Amino acid sequence: MDKQTLQLDIEGMTCDHCAVTIQRALSHVPGVERAEVSFPARRAEVQTTGTEPQAVVRAVEEAGYRASVVEPPQSQAAPPERGPSISGGRKPDVVVLGGGSAGFAAAIHAADLGAHVTLVEGGTLGGTCVNVGCVPSKTLIRAAEVQHRAAHHPFDGVRTAVQVPDFPKVIAQKDALVTAMRQEKYWDVLAAYPNVTLRQSRGIVNRDLSMTVDGDTLKPGHLIVTTGASPWAPPIAGLAEAGSLTSTEALALSTRPASMIVIGGSAVGLEIAQLYARFGTRVTVLEAMPTLVPAEDAEIGTALADYVREEGLEVRTGLSIGRVDRGEGGYTVQATAHGRTETFQGEQLLVATGRRANTRGFGLEEAGIELGKKGEIRVNEHLQTSRPEVYAAGDVVGDPMFVYVAAYGGHLAADNALNGNSRRYDLSALPRVTFTDPQVASVGLTEQEAGAKGIDVSVSKLPLSYVPRALAAHETRGFIKLIADRRTNRLVGAHILATDAGEMIQEPTLAIKYGISVNELAAAFHPYLTLAEGIKLAAQTFTRDVKKLSCCAA
Ligand SMILES: Cc1cc2nc3c(=O)[nH]c(=O)nc-3n(C[C@H](O)[C@H](O)[C@H](O)COP(=O)(O)OP(=O)(O)OC[C@H]3O[C@@H](n4cnc5c(N)ncnc54)[C@H](O)[C@@H]3O)c2cc1C
Repeated sequence: MDKQTLQLDIEGMTCDHCAVTIQRALSHVPGVERAEVSFPARRAEVQTTGTEPQAVVRAVEEAGYRASVVEPPQSQAAPPERGPSISGGRKPDVVVLGGGSAGFAAAIHAADLGAHVTLVEGGTLGGTCVNVGCVPSKTLIRAAEVQHRAAHHPFDGVRTAVQVPDFPKVIAQKDALVTAMRQEKYWDVLAAYPNVTLRQSRGIVNRDLSMTVDGDTLKPGHLIVTTGASPWAPPIAGLAEAGSLTSTEALALSTRPASMIVIGGSAVGLEIAQLYARFGTRVTVLEAMPTLVPAEDAEIGTALADYVREEGLEVRTGLSIGRVDRGEGGYTVQATAHGRTETFQGEQLLVATGRRANTRGFGLEEAGIELGKKGEIRVNEHLQTSRPEVYAAGDVVGDPMFVYVAAYGGHLAADNALNGNSRRYDLSALPRVTFTDPQVASVGLTEQEAGAKGIDVSVSKLPLSYVPRALAAHETRGFIKLIADRRTNRLVGAHILATDAGEMIQEPTLAIKYGISVNELAAAFHPYLTLAEGIKLAAQTFTRDVKKLSCCAA
């Protein structure tokens, strides 16, 4: 039977949740092998074997929406193949520009699909995550946490004497881990793919989409740009002259500073702020928005500020930075809040105010590849750029900048480049974690976002002090907040502040992705004593007074 891919225009969706409902309905139609539904694009893409299009349309209509089949444009029927390297049935050659997580995912998948791949990396193989991002930050956070817990654990009789850790030793251990993981996860993996050739040089994109690499000209059938992003600082008076640390430099200091000012109270800034504070540095966090982690639920930002203040960090929010100066004793930062100007001093200054795409200086714009307002590559729902032969993925296409998004994007871009835009980039039900202590983990909509989308929601909030596991571990900081669509009872958002929130967020993620209701969550088995049981208890809180529940909350 013939395989076909149908594109449908969908009407009537009001949120990501509708997309999930339609996806489920489509997946039950006989012959449907894959269905992807995008709420922002109001589109569905359905792969079928021998299914009549009318049956697919009917399934959408029975789910309460309207659908019409879209004729595919000619260019989507077959992938544009070009370049001298195409011969016989072989896939066109692919150049992947940038050897980080997105680049590796793209290169490996293109190789798996039979393409000959040239991976061009101008810096350190592995890119941000392994070298200067996730891996070094999380291992240093863990080292700081172990030492903090040993000193502050609430169990009587198990407190150990506070030992000032040997900071250079911790940094050396971090460097050893980075080196080992870079070898194992990047160099060794590359060695297993003989049809991926690494060129260790900066690549330049030419107007005809050929590439100049180390004096050679490559003419790929497809180019996938995965050049990542770099730390970005806002235009603050005096900052350029004074200089400051980026996250990369802050994670590589050989000596621990006595004091540090951190401008920026989002994930990267806060994680580094707390780890230095736990190593003994006096830390001040300055955040322009009214709460910490401003992209998160506001109650979480407020509670987290209280917890880190209890540890001794100074946290100031809602202020505007006026000027930075550097003198003999370190940095002076002037900031104004409510008309009052204050001065903060620190031996070191970390500016952690976001990252911007690496898109300048290697020919992208000159080759007609359009960039967005923050310099990110503009892509369509297939991760295709304004030059159809060129795809882009990872941090270079802008927010959200997470390594699992980069890897997903790289894989999808390679698929679409070689298989003719067969997949849509879908970031609905995307979980995120801030690795402070307690951690922040969230997925889906906040109450405010739901309100802005016109969704009538109900909210349950369960303090961790009602979760038996948290009580047993004496780790009752934080709460679980679940947001449900009042009409359907389906979960549309989860926001957790808890010691291991990152380990708890996957259940709500799957619930949102697959349209599971809070009643179903409340009725499902959750092992006693686990933190995951907190999700069940929070789901029960929609309808019951959790204070009146007995042990094991049936
Ligand atoms: C401190 C920190 C902590 C983080 N923690 C987490 C975390 O816990 N979890 C998480 O999911 N994400 C985390 N992230 C984000 C994550 O690291 C990134 O989203 C991810 O690494 C991006 O991958 P990428 O492949 O898009 O880009 P990158 O990994 O940056 O790769 C891009 C590569 O392209 C190369 N390049 C650029 N221009 C050229 C050129 N012209 N020619 C050749 N090569 C070029 C660069 O040298 C680089 O190696 C963190 C980031 C930071 C900074």
